[in-house]
Amino acid sequence: MKIHNCFTGGNIRVIKTTDDEVFLENELRDTEGDWFYWAFCVEGAENKKITFHFQKNRLGYWGPAVSYDLKEWHWLDNCDGDSFTYRFGETENRVYFAHNMLYHPQRFSEFATEYGLSIDELCKSRRGRSVPCLHLGDGETSIILTARHHACESTGSYVLEGVLREWIASPLPNTRILCVPFADYDGVVDGDQGKNRAPHDHNRDYTAAPIYPEVAEILKHAEQYGCHLGFDFHSPWHKGRENDTIFIVRNSIAKQSRFDRFAEGLQRELSAAAIAYTKENDHMPMTGWNQPSPTFSYTMSLREECNLAFTLETAYFGTKENKISTDMLIRQGRGFAKALRNYIESTESF
Ligand SMILES: [Zn+2]
Repeated sequence: MKIHNCFTGGNIRVIKTTDDEVFLENELRDTEGDWFYWAFCVEGAENKKITFHFQKNRLGYWGPAVSYDLKEWHWLDNCDGDSFTYRFGETENRVYFAHNMLYHPQRFSEFATEYGLSIDELCKSRRGRSVPCLHLGDGETSIILTARHHACESTGSYVLEGVLREWIASPLPNTRILCVPFADYDGVVDGDQGKNRAPHDHNRDYTAAPIYPEVAEILKHAEQYGCHLGFDFHSPWHKGRENDTIFIVRNSIAKQSRFDRFAEGLQRELSAAAIAYTKENDHMPMTGWNQPSPTFSYTMSLREECNLAFTLETAYFGTKENKISTDMLIRQGRGFAKALRNYIESTESF
């Protein structure tokens, strides 16, 4: 039996193995403080029944996300505190387990191909990779859509894909979109936590001198075309309380009526189609951890032309009544795009 992290998004450290038990820890790498992301592959364990043990706060409500191909994911629906047991079938010679349902960059490429969209290069990453982006439409209203400023936060990617699917089916005229689906592309590919990187992570890099090339390019685009609307799709902390829901991180007391209008529209669109959302879940500005900092959303929101820019957080696991699945996340994104369209149509001018 081989346990490894040699695949896109892989992250694991094997501490000890016995015949039927494996003790694991996730790799924090350059993250300061604790974080919870992990993803590993088991090969050659056919017919074995193995219990995997973790540190605290590494497993969600439904146990690990399981996949055989890094494309389709389901919950194991079985865990016992910080451990889970898996019985490998006789033909299961390669099984992937992860904290959350991973979103492979290949999925985004396939989505683009399906719609006949050409993926452009935003820039080269710090590790020399070609960072993908999409340009959609043309016109005076500039929208920037981003995800994965924190590498491990895959629910944001599914929601973003849903937004694009709905928008492309019925776009608004005179509108230009820049979409950066993997703002920390190296982190997504390498399986980093991405959150709280030293000296700071991608979502604290919107400064006069950004250290990440992706951020520098997004800022350059905003300078050239403006950012009338900006949305950054994230996953929250591991689980519990607000982390089991969807919420908008509101960043301006002066713009509360705009936030309310958007949130009410989102509430209507999501009521039946996806995980339940209520604007009461939103995180209010200057409350708790929600303080001004050089994030994508806060920085964009300060621009003169910006009507609204915010972070949307979507749970990794949800609740019993609202259990997260990849289909549900896509539907959530579609609902978000409908709410966005209504918001733009009911806004007098940008
Ligand atoms: Zn985040």
